[in-house]
Amino acid sequence: MYEVTIIKSFSAAHMLMAVGGKCEELHGHNFKVEATVTAENLNSSGILVDFRNVKEWLQEILDKLDHKHLNEFPSFLGKNPSSENIALYIYNEMKLKARQAELKVARVKVWESENAAVTYIEND
Ligand SMILES: [Zn+2]
Repeated sequence: MYEVTIIKSFSAAHMLMAVGGKCEELHGHNFKVEATVTAENLNSSGILVDFRNVKEWLQEILDKLDHKHLNEFPSFLGKNPSSENIALYIYNEMKLKARQAELKVARVKVWESENAAVTYIEND
């Protein structure tokens, strides 16, 4: 089993409902996102996937979130745009892109600060 991880970042604002405290006020984060794709076997070039492809996929997804007020982003309407839900959203979007290359997405980790991260991992 091999894994390839790409790290990128984006900046966005959100306000979290019903969590109490300062997080309910509008505020922003510089989110760091780690996306990991996985496969059992390497391709004929001896690699899992070209890093550039995974970077491109993640960049396309994050470009849609960058500098947005996440509460108004269509995928989060009626949901808290928490790091948990952001991780799930990115995971699902990555899954669609990775599927075309016959790869699985192992996990997506979203860092909302240097010391706090959330990871979404799908149960098999
Ligand atoms: Zn926040």
